[in-house]
Amino acid sequence: MTVREIRDAIRSGERSAAEICRETLARIDAVNPLLNAFNTVAAERALARADAIDRDRDRHRGAPLAGVPMAIKDNICTSGLRTTASSRILEHFVPPYDATAVSRLEAAGAVVVGKTNCDEFAMGSSNETSAFGPVRNPWALDRSPGGTSGGSAAAVAAGLAPCALGSDTGGSVRQPSSLCGVVGLKPTYGRVSRYGLIAHGSSLDQIGPIARRARDVAIVLGVVAGADACDSTSAPEPVPDYEAALTGDVRGVRVGVPRALVEQGVDPDVARATTAALDVLQARGAAIVDVDLPHARYATPVYYLVSTAEASSNLARYDGVRYGFRATGADLRAMYGQTRGRGFGAEVKRRIMLGTYVLSAGYYDAYYLKAQQVRTLILRDYDRAFERVDVVAMPTSPVPAFKLGEKIADPLQMYLVDVFTVSANLTGLPAISVPCGFTPGPPRLPIGLQLTGRRFDEAMLLRLADAYERDTEWSTPLPPIPSR
Ligand code: GLN
Repeated sequence: MTVREIRDAIRSGERSAAEICRETLARIDAVNPLLNAFNTVAAERALARADAIDRDRDRHRGAPLAGVPMAIKDNICTSGLRTTASSRILEHFVPPYDATAVSRLEAAGAVVVGKTNCDEFAMGSSNETSAFGPVRNPWALDRSPGGTSGGSAAAVAAGLAPCALGSDTGGSVRQPSSLCGVVGLKPTYGRVSRYGLIAHGSSLDQIGPIARRARDVAIVLGVVAGADACDSTSAPEPVPDYEAALTGDVRGVRVGVPRALVEQGVDPDVARATTAALDVLQARGAAIVDVDLPHARYATPVYYLVSTAEASSNLARYDGVRYGFRATGADLRAMYGQTRGRGFGAEVKRRIMLGTYVLSAGYYDAYYLKAQQVRTLILRDYDRAFERVDVVAMPTSPVPAFKLGEKIADPLQMYLVDVFTVSANLTGLPAISVPCGFTPGPPRLPIGLQLTGRRFDEAMLLRLADAYERDTEWSTPLPPIPSR
């Protein structure tokens, strides 16, 4: 069931929150061993919460997510519920507080069913850097679900939860959504509070919803969005009624296509599906317009300079003293070294070294500062495009789901997968991925269309995605998961 169906069934009294919760937990029990999508399943806690919602039905009747099961990426803090960021260094970390996004979901009646697997500290593009093993793509179990919110996307795709929260620093909500055939939105920087999100790149990070329908994403975004006194970078802009924006009417909407950017290095099936998607929007009355983003081709190197710099700083706090795992050592320095040496995995160490290097005296100007300057040029490209168009369209990922093991040995190959997603983080702009087709197969693998919008115009992205869903069937099929 979708978020909307569950919400409506519980509101009308047709279903109870406890029933829905038990069914969800049973499905997780049956399917998760194949997928490894969850690091922690919070069965007792979820059932208790669902019971409480049923008991207090009158109070929760108007709540936007009453009784809706929700999976939370394991780098988003949940009070009393283990939060690992899929790292050994936080393997036994139990946060004393909830992320604002989580407390808002729970206040709206949502039932947290568990914490989803991801790349370690949200660094990776395939879920293979997780200390707890990779997630498997429900459409082909030998393939990656994408990353870093691979557990969230795989769980939603396989029906283990109707909705999940992910985080997106460089595509980590959108790319796994694309590779798993679900809808994922990275909101505008500042739209959703980052309080309680384990920091990766603080100028890039956003929490975003993943669901099977644009409408579900709209419902959840409406709950988690808005200013928060605990995050000074959260924005005071009022939160519109996102569901009300789903009118189905896209007549006159101008969709920009950066042809020069997407002409190279895109898998032919992906190119075909995304081009066909634009035809669907055009048939509904949208106008397709060419735009030029001349600096967007530098987005990947710029992203890997800025994000590693920020990550190296953010990860300095894992010193064995204040959080999580601590190793023993002859003296303080040795304890730090042992803790970080054994607590972090290879990709996280690579990022810390890269980031420390680009920030170091003598290299700061050549790398970090230069990257920030090019970041501004990319932003100007988009600003200029948005003078002529309402959204910019391109594939979310240049390739469909790749095989586990295929890219993990070559970091550069892995980084190149992010070519279309990282610009939205560098610019702070909102972007959505919506299913737009399948490879011919076998195996049939989902393909995603990415739409990037103006600052705080998530409503436009959701309106287009919802209108597109009305004319297509790409969000309907469930993956062929063998039942046990
Ligand atoms: N692939 C990007 C990275 O590894 C994605 C990060 C993210 O969005 N969390 O940095």
